[in-house]
Amino acid sequence: MVVRQAFNLVSRNDAVKRIATNAPLTRDVVRRFVAGERTSDAVRVAGELAGAGLRCTLSYLSEDVTDVAQVSAVVDQYRRLIAALEDADLTDRAELSIKLGAIGQALPDSDADQITLQNATAICEAADKVGMTATVDMEEHETVEATLSTVRQLRQRFDWLGVALQADLMRTEDDCRALSYAGSRVRLCKGAYRATEGCHQTKQDIDLAFVRCLKILMAGGGFPMIATHDPRMIEITSAVAVRHDRERSSYELQMLYGVRPDEQKRLASLGERVRVYVPYGADWYPWLVRRMAERPANLMLLLKSIGVPG
Ligand SMILES: Cc1cc2nc3c(=O)[nH]c(=O)nc-3n(C[C@H](O)[C@H](O)[C@H](O)COP(=O)(O)OP(=O)(O)OC[C@H]3O[C@@H](n4cnc5c(N)ncnc54)[C@H](O)[C@@H]3O)c2cc1C
Repeated sequence: MVVRQAFNLVSRNDAVKRIATNAPLTRDVVRRFVAGERTSDAVRVAGELAGAGLRCTLSYLSEDVTDVAQVSAVVDQYRRLIAALEDADLTDRAELSIKLGAIGQALPDSDADQITLQNATAICEAADKVGMTATVDMEEHETVEATLSTVRQLRQRFDWLGVALQADLMRTEDDCRALSYAGSRVRLCKGAYRATEGCHQTKQDIDLAFVRCLKILMAGGGFPMIATHDPRMIEITSAVAVRHDRERSSYELQMLYGVRPDEQKRLASLGERVRVYVPYGADWYPWLVRRMAERPANLMLLLKSIGVPG
């Protein structure tokens, strides 16, 4: 089966989605990329990573939440997670990753931005009380302006709050310049939601844009969080950091849970600060499909595991 057909099958076919999401979360392929469905799973994985010398950022999986009750449930999940991390004495190793689309931005209400700000404030207040930090994920390109505006408002009270920027968007070099001041925390990634306009399209153009953004952030006074599995980008990150006399504690490398785990440990053993993005929660299917799209070998693994012939 060709890869494109396989991806279409997984992302659009309801039967495949039903089989995949009803399968117990014991399947190796899902467990590899998702900590589990419960808070306790997230805390367990955070502890395992801490034991291996790795930091983590925990993300409760819940996308495009268009219902106020669901939004409140997501905020409660984060509160529960923060309390459990405090109980497990992991608040200095773990931070939170928050998708604004899950806490109000995707609501049809005219005051969606206000609701998002209130909910993000509630999560940040809970994190702040236990000395934790958080980073706001970047989602579809239509949401970039609203996300940056919400983060700007939140940072007036929570100056530790970070935000992700997507190198594939042409605007991002300017955003990096605007956000490279002392105290700022920016996660640079290539971008997982390809836009048709205002967006670099080829891998080469995206990689070049990523390096330009990386250089801007490393030259600035903020704390760059470089999120990539790409060996070339990681090599360039180390070289650019050296060129700017940056100590290793002044930036960090980030990778996804289950992706190049040996490399995560190897980099940490060399003295790099490495943080692993750990997703958890019942709504893991869209997350997994995005990861599959990035890596066709993983897609074939998923299809096989749910019994679809390759
Ligand atoms: C910590 C973290 C946070 C992120 N947050 C966001 C966000 O907020 N918003 C957003 O849009 N996107 C986010 N992303 C996703 C990101 O934008 C990319 O879609 C994703 O990381 C793939 O790009 P890449 O840089 O790893 O390299 P790619 O260009 O996908 O791959 C380049 C090379 O990296 C290696 N590689 C890549 N994937 C794998 C793999 N699965 N297994 C083994 N080797 C691999 C291979 O050598 C490959 O040739 C995040 C990614 C990470 C790591």
